[in-house]
Amino acid sequence: AGTLDILRARIDFPLLQELVYGKPLVYLDNAATTQKPLQVIEALEHYYKTYNSNVHRGVHFLSQIATEAYEIARRKIAKFINAAHEYEVIFTKGTTNGINLVASSFGRHFLKEGDEVLISAMEHHSNIVPWQMICEEKGAQLKVIPIDQDGVLKMELLDELLTDKVKIVAVTYVSNTLGTVNPIREIIQKAHAKSIPVLIDGAQAIQHMPVDMQELDADFFVCSGHKMYGPTGIGFLYGKEKWLNAMPPFEGGGDMIKTVTFEKTVYNELPFKFEAGTPDISGAIGLGAAVDYINQTGIRNIETAEHELMQYALDKLSGIEGLRFVGNAKERAGGISFLVGDIHPYDLGELLDKQSIAVRTGHHCTQPLMDFFGIPGTVRASFAFYNTKEEIDALVKGIEFAKRMLA
Ligand code: PMP
Repeated sequence: AGTLDILRARIDFPLLQELVYGKPLVYLDNAATTQKPLQVIEALEHYYKTYNSNVHRGVHFLSQIATEAYEIARRKIAKFINAAHEYEVIFTKGTTNGINLVASSFGRHFLKEGDEVLISAMEHHSNIVPWQMICEEKGAQLKVIPIDQDGVLKMELLDELLTDKVKIVAVTYVSNTLGTVNPIREIIQKAHAKSIPVLIDGAQAIQHMPVDMQELDADFFVCSGHKMYGPTGIGFLYGKEKWLNAMPPFEGGGDMIKTVTFEKTVYNELPFKFEAGTPDISGAIGLGAAVDYINQTGIRNIETAEHELMQYALDKLSGIEGLRFVGNAKERAGGISFLVGDIHPYDLGELLDKQSIAVRTGHHCTQPLMDFFGIPGTVRASFAFYNTKEEIDALVKGIEFAKRMLA
């Protein structure tokens, strides 16, 4: 596919060379977390071995090197997403932490009784619960853009839902369960026409397609490092300067202040205002290395390779008798959810595991979406660019084997 040599690239990922139950691993749980290239693992090791030190605090040699590396990582991310300013990139623990930051801080300042927050029917729990919590606190209401049986947003209802009461819209770019790619440009345009800001959950988008903050015009965009070949425990929030400046800090502590007295604290400027305490320094540096890795590989090449893989998988899986897809959007990325006959997804997942095939089963942190389809869960196969057609063939064979075992 394209100019990518997948078999060459796989050598960068040590875990892809490991055996599971004595057989080569077929890793199709990339939406949960991707494997890490050596370049990322070595960046973490290099930090701890040669310049481990706290950031923004010391005048000493190592602290200066660590601070510079941490800030270079921020610059890499800002460039990768084409943010207008580096200080619009805030390091977080991940997507969940980023959404909690915005829901809590934006909500505390801008939400009042009777207001509304608009989300969608396919949101991950992390883009539901933080909004529910702040709505409850403020006496605001959570509203939901419905979906159809294909797992596609009912966009014809959007105008009606964007009432004067809506203070923020929060939607996912790509559904982690269905793979649906949502028309976020249209959502952002329509919301902006009514001066409503939009948060995009980019957890399942940023590793699959180019994203450009200035082109998208998103007000907030959140991601997890570990789903984009980076370490766990680190992610970032992009926020437009005008919103971040208007929002109160999320957490108080060191680094987020300019001056402190017992009477009054003056908060630090962006991005530090939202980065209280010692950050995940190694994580940020590792995430910077992951961005380098994606840039070297080429996000367009990744997109093309994964698109081909997705088409191949859809084609092969639809040949399995009794298999039905959960979610049938035309535009999809990342993963495929399905059920086979009346086999419980957990049983299928277990039998696939015994064949060294890693998939995810269950509700994928989208219980309201499962309720909508009236199912307890799905089996989800999710891809990274390093997956091969042979691995899809192994999945198909594995499902056929499981069907025979459970017949
Ligand atoms: N949103 C989406 C769409 C996701 O797929 C995930 C991770 N499954 C999250 C949010 C939460 O990400 P994290 O657990 O890394 O905070």
